[in-house]
Amino acid sequence: MGLRGYGHADVRLPSPLEEVNDEFLREHGVRLLLKRDDLISAEVPGNKWRKLHLNLQAAHEQGRSTLLTFGGAYSNHIRAVAAAGRACGFSTIGVIRGEEHLPLNWSLAYATEQGMRLEYLDRTTYRAKHTSEVIDGLRGRFGDFYLLPEGGSNALAVRGCATIADEIDEDFDAVCCACGTGGTLAGLAAGLSAGQEAIGFSVLKGGGFLNGEVRRFQEEAGVVTGNWSIETGYYFGGFAKYPPELAAFIREFQARHGVLLERIYVAKMLAGVYDLAARGRFRRGSTVVALVTGPPEDMDDQNTGGRASA
Ligand SMILES: *Cc1c(COP(=O)(O)O)cnc(C)c1O
Repeated sequence: MGLRGYGHADVRLPSPLEEVNDEFLREHGVRLLLKRDDLISAEVPGNKWRKLHLNLQAAHEQGRSTLLTFGGAYSNHIRAVAAAGRACGFSTIGVIRGEEHLPLNWSLAYATEQGMRLEYLDRTTYRAKHTSEVIDGLRGRFGDFYLLPEGGSNALAVRGCATIADEIDEDFDAVCCACGTGGTLAGLAAGLSAGQEAIGFSVLKGGGFLNGEVRRFQEEAGVVTGNWSIETGYYFGGFAKYPPELAAFIREFQARHGVLLERIYVAKMLAGVYDLAARGRFRRGSTVVALVTGPPEDMDDQNTGGRASA
């Protein structure tokens, strides 16, 4: 069935590793490499593929035919589950926070084009989405399903991200990634060698909670490490906010290096890496890998600042 065919058809691994030739970083003694996970797949890009593939395999092995998950109205995770489910022969149900708005926005329209059935939960019920009461209610309505949590972070997602570092065939000192739920950072850190560190960049205001979350994800996956930390000062106004200084960073990076950065996660992380380099956070002579966890959205060339997405 679809799983293997899907892997062969669309997934490109290992993802490319590209050096960024940047005078500013050179002055600060930092060599920067981009790990281009945004190029893994057109349909299920970046960390979404890393986090989903072992879950899809588990769902298949458990004989489940339906995937159910949760997300906001512009969720990258919702779109990824819709596309992966279709490619691998699963029915998919997306439980969306808030009320239905018609016509569907581009993100939910895409999900339904992939065959996903959408259900809406009011915000109060949505907050309780991971309680057995709500889950049992959903099972009562939809029958049996394989449950993926909001954002897709669970033990198998963490293990799916633990192999990223194995693909990097250059010596490096630090690897950086953006954090939404922190699942990607938890796995990335778990796969490092002695002496290497992982740095996560919260894209949410008040990202201190991520320390507990990343630790919990590592515990659930049985891979606890002490080699990671989280930067909480690079959220640029908050989730999905797009202030002028972030827009300027994206423009300049594209002009200099020809790569258009995804704005909700990747650009904030890279802007943080540049700032940390300027502040001397990396020892001179360091090699830093920045994980490009996803591609810019089609909508990114329009001015849709303030749009929510999770
Ligand atoms: C979902 C997403 C993230 C967040 O990953 P977490 O594992 O939830 O921290 C980061 N970058 C991109 C591009 C994403 O789509």
